[in-house]
Amino acid sequence: MKAAVFRGNGRIAAEDWPRPTIGAGELLLRLRGCGLCGSDIAKIVAPDTKAPAVFGHELVGDVIEAGAGVQGIARGDRVVAAHHVPCGECHYCRRGSESMCRAFKESHLDPGGFAEFVRVPTTNVAHATFRLPEHVSDEAASFVEPLGCCVRATRRTGARAGDTAVVVGLGSIGCLFVQLLARTGATVVGMDASPGRVEIARGLGLPAMSMSEANTAIARLSGGRGADVVLITGGAASALGWAVTAVRDGGSIHYFAGGPGDALPVALETLYHRELTITATYSSSPADLSEAFCLVTTGAVTLEPLYTHRLPLDRLDEGVDLMRTGRALKVYVTP
Ligand SMILES: [Zn+2]
Ligand SMILES: [Zn+2]
Repeated sequence: MKAAVFRGNGRIAAEDWPRPTIGAGELLLRLRGCGLCGSDIAKIVAPDTKAPAVFGHELVGDVIEAGAGVQGIARGDRVVAAHHVPCGECHYCRRGSESMCRAFKESHLDPGGFAEFVRVPTTNVAHATFRLPEHVSDEAASFVEPLGCCVRATRRTGARAGDTAVVVGLGSIGCLFVQLLARTGATVVGMDASPGRVEIARGLGLPAMSMSEANTAIARLSGGRGADVVLITGGAASALGWAVTAVRDGGSIHYFAGGPGDALPVALETLYHRELTITATYSSSPADLSEAFCLVTTGAVTLEPLYTHRLPLDRLDEGVDLMRTGRALKVYVTP
């Protein structure tokens, strides 16, 4: 089969890759498409990522084979399947840290969504594979995974009605957060340093602004206190510095981004005397995914305009370029 294979040093090419075979309890999917995630790009450009590898975890596919014992899903179904699944039984899982579960980190689809066929292992089938109703488009369905991560993060911010919540960074993830935070009843301010991104987000009807406009809006909305919640989706350490100035005393900052910067630009004195809370979330649990699945199938979140580009597998490298340079919000890759 064909797959977009990572060959190290940022290089990706469409090559032959062994077609997976399945066993009992497993599924074989023929890929319909897969979203390109910022975390795929981070792996592609990192100097120490192991090659060869096939990335992609925001996938939609048709079941063409179901192993013995699979229940509730059959050949011919169109599904989304999660990449990582926790064990549900360890200390991490029982404490709500499912994405820190050791089994979670080891579980994965085979080989990944940027391929013609994918094997879905038993635990992924049992706990985090969702059968799609007809009215949901492939593109919207591929958003279940990133939306699940955003559902988890939004819950952890603790945002509620009456709050002023700020989203830093208006890529596709930031645009999801603006919508999810609005559903908590908070008044949301979306901010991005790139005028192009602000314009795209405004085009989607989202409250998007520049940094100086955001400063004014936050002061007005909060009576000069500052935002209750600031959620950072990009911009690394420098965004955290701004967030500390934008958040109110006693407020919270949620960090939802990787990226460079190995120190928090926050004086410990500030952290303590201003009683700030800094939280982070990584990935999502099956419960977060099922909540996201429900939001997608009920049309509660606007998703389709977030797809700005559609590319075939053999042009994945172009998609990486488009997203790195901020010209694309979300790239959807089809075999
Ligand atoms: Zn992702
Ligand atoms: Zn576990």
